[in-house]
Amino acid sequence: MAGAGSDLEAAVQLRLRSARLVALDVDGVLTDGRIVLDDRGGEAKAFSIRDGAAIVWARREGIDVGFLSGRPSGATTRRATELGVTLVAQVGPDKRQAFGNLLTTAGVQGDEVAYMGDDLMDLPVLAKVGLAASPADAAPEVQARVHWVSGARGGHGAVRELIELLLKARGRWDAFVDEQTA
Ligand SMILES: [Mg+2]
Repeated sequence: MAGAGSDLEAAVQLRLRSARLVALDVDGVLTDGRIVLDDRGGEAKAFSIRDGAAIVWARREGIDVGFLSGRPSGATTRRATELGVTLVAQVGPDKRQAFGNLLTTAGVQGDEVAYMGDDLMDLPVLAKVGLAASPADAAPEVQARVHWVSGARGGHGAVRELIELLLKARGRWDAFVDEQTA
């Protein structure tokens, strides 16, 4: 999305209003893409608490959230469990089939999905969804093909920004703010 004019923002908001499922790539979207490997076979990833809060709020609004990762990881499973996310597909690098399965499980159509991905293997999925999004540090080829690019990087609030925009597009964001200040 080059040069976010108000028309473009309106188009993005329209797409977000019909989203029933927010599907998220994990590495590079929910994390900064780095994996810390220890010498005992374990691995660690850093997730954003603010992204997590937004995921919980989206689910409370009746918007389903799913993770779609090309790389199986115990850290991803644990984060999904913490957030109550049950739609989790951790498969090989070909995300097409996994995305199809995710749609079937969630009972939604591709145009009812907002998907955020950061790298080339996400392009087949990004091409099939109602709202295609990427973090600020996604591959340039990805940024050039999505409807909306977050101002935040993967693992540093990109998902928070997407869900905040979605809840604002539905006129529901203020309710969450009021809830915390009441
Ligand atoms: Mg990725």
